[in-house]
Parts: sequence; structure tokens; C-alpha cells
Amino acid sequence: MVHDSNCIFCKIIAGEIPSLKIYEDEDLMSFMDINPFSKGHVLVVPKYHAQTITDLPEEVLVKLAKGVQKIAGIVRQRLGCEGFNVLQNNGAAAGQTVPHVHVHIIPRNPAPHLDWKSKKYDSDEEMHAYHKKLMGEE
Ligand code: AMP
Ligand code: ZN
Repeated sequence: MVHDSNCIFCKIIAGEIPSLKIYEDEDLMSFMDINPFSKGHVLVVPKYHAQTITDLPEEVLVKLAKGVQKIAGIVRQRLGCEGFNVLQNNGAAAGQTVPHVHVHIIPRNPAPHLDWKSKKYDSDEEMHAYHKKLMGEE
């Protein structure tokens, strides 16, 4: 796998930086976004370092797309959200802040339950409680 030792997501994949992982296989890893748009927001990251989807070999992109479908199903089932957004930024001009391809899966519920302003969990405990739900442990 292509690895960049200066990349934060490569470091997470290598276990050098902690993350709350919800899924891993040979090609992908999925973990919780540390600054969620909504609670339960996860990222799906290929183990191949490249900045944008146009830099990925086709077979890696196909595996990523299949992984996104699988993990979105896990998020929907385990959190019981009514819908979800799949979002993917390519390049700084498009809002990409981490230059390693990743797909956002953002659980959504209709207003008035939607917390538009939330960018932080209330506590580490709350983030861990969501992690347990995503792992199917409660
Ligand atoms: P983007 O703007 O598409 O590049 O999104 C990068 C995402 O990575 C943001 O939503 C960040 O909150 C998230 N992020 C950055 N560092 C970490 C980290 N160490 N663990 C989990 N998520 C992270
Ligand atoms: Zn990387």
C-alpha cells in the first residue's frame, strides 16, 4: 500500500495516532470524525495514500465505493438515522483539509432533531457512547 509518513490518516491507519475505528479490512479503514457535522459522523479511508479520487487506481476506488455502501448501511442500522449524506472533498479549493482521500458519512435526522450547530461532542464519554452504538455493542 502507498504510505506517506507525514500524513495524519496514514498515521491513523498505521496505528501511530489513535482513532475510534468502526471498520477495517485489507483495503480500507473507517473511524469517527473528531469534529462531526452530526453525531456519529464517520470517515471511510482507503489504505492507499493519494490526495484525490482522480489520483487513485481504479481498483482502489471501486473498493472504496463498496466500502462506503457497507459502512453507510452499518451507520444507518446502528444509529437508526433516517438518512445520511455521503460527501467527499477533492483539493483545498473544494474544502479538503486532510490530503488523503476520504469519504464522509454523515447521519441525518429531520428537524427539529437536527443539531445544525454541533461541531463537537459534549464530552469524550459521549463520543465513546456513539462509538459503542456504531460497533453494535449496545
Ligand atoms: P475534509 O475537510 O474533507 O478534508 O475533512 C477532513 C476531516 O477529517 C474533518 O472533518 C476533520 O474533523 C477530520 N479529522 C481531522 N483529523 C482527524 C483525526 N485525527 N481523527 C478523526 N478525524 C479527523
Ligand atoms: Zn495518507
